[in-house]
Amino acid sequence: MSDLTHEGTLDTLDKPDTLYTTPCIDILQRIFGYKNFRGEQESIINHIVNGGNAFVLMPTGAGKSLCYQIPALSRDGIAIIVSPLIALMQDQVATLNELGVKAIYLASNQDSVETQRNLSQIHNQQVKLLYVTPERATSSSFTHFLHNIKISLFAIDEAHCVSHWGHDFRPEYQKLHTLVRTFAHVPRIALTATADHFTRIDILHYLHLKESKQYSSSFLRDNLVYIVQEKNDGKTQLLNFLAKHRHACGIIYCNSRSRVDQLTEFLQQNSFNVRSYHAGLESSIRTANHYYFLQQNNVIMVATVAFGLGIDKPDVRYVYHFDMPRSIDHFYQESGRAGRDGMVAFSIVSFGFKEVLELSKIIIQSDMDELKKKYELTKLKKMLQYCDTVECRCKTLLQFLGEASDNCGKCDNCLTIPDNVDATTTVQKILATIYKVGQKFNTSHIVDILRGKASINVQIWEHHKLSTFGLCDTMNAKELRRIIRLLYSRSIIDIDFTTNNIKLNDKALSILRGLEDIYLPQMTQEIAKLKHAATTKYSMRTMWLRAELEERLYQEILKFRHEIALAHKTSHHAILSDKSIYEIVTQKPVTLTALGDISGIGQIKLARFGVMLLNIILKF
Ligand code: ADP
Ligand code: ZN
Repeated sequence: MSDLTHEGTLDTLDKPDTLYTTPCIDILQRIFGYKNFRGEQESIINHIVNGGNAFVLMPTGAGKSLCYQIPALSRDGIAIIVSPLIALMQDQVATLNELGVKAIYLASNQDSVETQRNLSQIHNQQVKLLYVTPERATSSSFTHFLHNIKISLFAIDEAHCVSHWGHDFRPEYQKLHTLVRTFAHVPRIALTATADHFTRIDILHYLHLKESKQYSSSFLRDNLVYIVQEKNDGKTQLLNFLAKHRHACGIIYCNSRSRVDQLTEFLQQNSFNVRSYHAGLESSIRTANHYYFLQQNNVIMVATVAFGLGIDKPDVRYVYHFDMPRSIDHFYQESGRAGRDGMVAFSIVSFGFKEVLELSKIIIQSDMDELKKKYELTKLKKMLQYCDTVECRCKTLLQFLGEASDNCGKCDNCLTIPDNVDATTTVQKILATIYKVGQKFNTSHIVDILRGKASINVQIWEHHKLSTFGLCDTMNAKELRRIIRLLYSRSIIDIDFTTNNIKLNDKALSILRGLEDIYLPQMTQEIAKLKHAATTKYSMRTMWLRAELEERLYQEILKFRHEIALAHKTSHHAILSDKSIYEIVTQKPVTLTALGDISGIGQIKLARFGVMLLNIILKF
């Protein structure tokens, strides 16, 4: 057994030979401070350590990084990790350095002195992991440089960037093709959380992995609590949610740059610590905001989906979709950025019919060919179906991704199942009105007729003379609009998105003729309230901190983490993860050995902060 049990210096870790003989489980426990491997980590790691190549598809937060970091520490030589963003590399390197692992990155933001220092450390074999961008990795000078060092493995992170099918396509990733061929004898591992059929084919092709072992895990993210709410007063609903998560870090996605700007200003006025991110911002501002987000533990990032790659932050406690995402795939990726550390985190979607119509119109008016438009509209409708379902959200999401699962027991639908009531009569009144106006009018017009509102348009067309005029005068407009939306998401009516006029299809005609009954979920005030309560039930503070003492200990540890992060010029999570803090607060270890058993506290952290932490714990 090697002597990784040193006293807080990096000496032993600087000697690759010592590590080379260390069993992987030992590295996991002593350096990373984790007890057991998760899922397929162990077999992937063993495969790479033994010189194999692999393609790894695992959901966000499943623990892909360890799949190359442990082999990098176990094998002789330097691991080359290709990563798409500097901010992402910086964060990984900082986290590894805090664990006492010698990792560095090479990037264009470093001056020549720093670059020289890095290069000489590599030549002196003081480095185990070297992070580079795809641009650097594929440059001829770097390839030349690689010929002169011993490489332990290549890891290609976010490997879906290789494919133009995905939304993060980076042409330089395709050039890795030549690099991996040149160093075909070096083990390589490609990792991603996104891989539909075509993306996977591209990854296997460009990275020469067709013959290699492929690992894919379940898409289930069982620490995520999925909640959907119909948008009424969007900003107030958002404030209500944020009030319960004030000290947490989260991402709020909007569908347009102007909405990001408005919402950022609104949240700033409400004294939240907010940053924003969209393609219209100057690149230096974007980078600074991204960096700030990675470093801090109570910041809200309001962003368009341009904020995608490189959000490798373990303690994002919620992803709030202020506007409905445009597909299940987008939604899965975006919501998956919450809770990478395995602790409870939220996915909230706020949605309304208006934005479905807006997004559909954008698709219809785009220059895509007809087939692609149809494909995009179907994807959007699936997303609406997720929002409108009364089934378990998690189960529905996994079904859309082709996987079966049980009810999660945590989502808003699992907690409060709305009653399905016979809505045949109301639906027949709606469908009859659509029929009587020749299927040439939109939702607002149909709602006005049914509620008996003689608007100017209704009078112009003499629709106040229809037999259905005022037939639903006891119902409010919102409820009628909701039913029309449900009819669309259940494919009972169709919509012409250039005009938003409603059309009847065969199913609608069958209901209208009384051949079929229709049941729809009833959304009472009471149910809406109960659904909202789900966000509190699983809020971290409610779950963890049951006593005042725990609350005080928690605050002290947060303060301690903040001070150390400032002193080390690094992020909060690189010092202590939310999970480590949770275990400390709930288990209150009072000896160094017990503290060493806390998840994420490896030997170096124990040596560096163990006594300081114990002093804090013992005060309570
Ligand atoms: P991914 O890259 O798959 O999104 P990460 O590699 O960032 O996920 O891992 C997510 C979190 O889980 C990190 O905080 C990581 O340290 C932690 N983690 C990974 N493997 C384990 C494990 N075996 N036991 C406990 N925590 C783990
Ligand atoms: Zn559920």
